[in-house]
Amino acid sequence: MKLRRAPIESLEVDGLVFAVRWSRRRRTIGISVSREGELRVLAPVGVPARKLESTVRAKLPWVRRKFAEFEALGPPPPPLRFVAGERLPYLGRAYRLVIVDADDRPGAPVALRRGRFELVRDLDGEARAAFVNWYTKRARARIGARVAHYAPLVNAAPSGVVVRDLGKRRWGVCDARTRLVSFHWELVLQPPELVDYVVVHELTHLHEPNHGPRFWQRVAAVMPDWQRRRGTLSRRGHRHAI
Ligand SMILES: [Zn+2]
Repeated sequence: MKLRRAPIESLEVDGLVFAVRWSRRRRTIGISVSREGELRVLAPVGVPARKLESTVRAKLPWVRRKFAEFEALGPPPPPLRFVAGERLPYLGRAYRLVIVDADDRPGAPVALRRGRFELVRDLDGEARAAFVNWYTKRARARIGARVAHYAPLVNAAPSGVVVRDLGKRRWGVCDARTRLVSFHWELVLQPPELVDYVVVHELTHLHEPNHGPRFWQRVAAVMPDWQRRRGTLSRRGHRHAI
């Protein structure tokens, strides 16, 4: 019987340890750095370890730059516990949370009233889901209105607007085939001007699928200060997630 060596699960380069995830669907080697400092290599099945290492080594300056960026941001905020006095973001502002009795809040378990978030008492682990639900509804209304505002300016009409969870790396997606634009519900945690930037960005993809010069020219025609907005959004990242 021939012994086959199992594919490696981690890779150490210059003292940095990367977890290796093998994928049958990938064609190229990808590297990711999480805010928590976790390093990952995504590799197509069958790539030799030596090739993996040389690719990672070539990417080390980028990895170190990412570390420096995260360090400059400071530690991520502690996870929310949905208790009275906490502050939750909405459209770039923070609102204090108050806990109310269900009798005082018929209907939805979450509301934003008089500058405060209200959450009904005793939701027992359902509080986050209730907030995600609230944010998603608000995002649908907000982003839908902004798409309606910008679509004529960009001169591009999407076939529909979807709001859902797009994970930790993307704010929006444009499907060139279906002409559907999708947005992360977390976008409404960001200030309105950053929501607008992502809206213009995704609508522009209906003309230009890639981020070439023509893409950015189109964005600039509608939003001359797009660079500043993009910079702010990438610095803020998903750290204001709930
Ligand atoms: Zn894009």
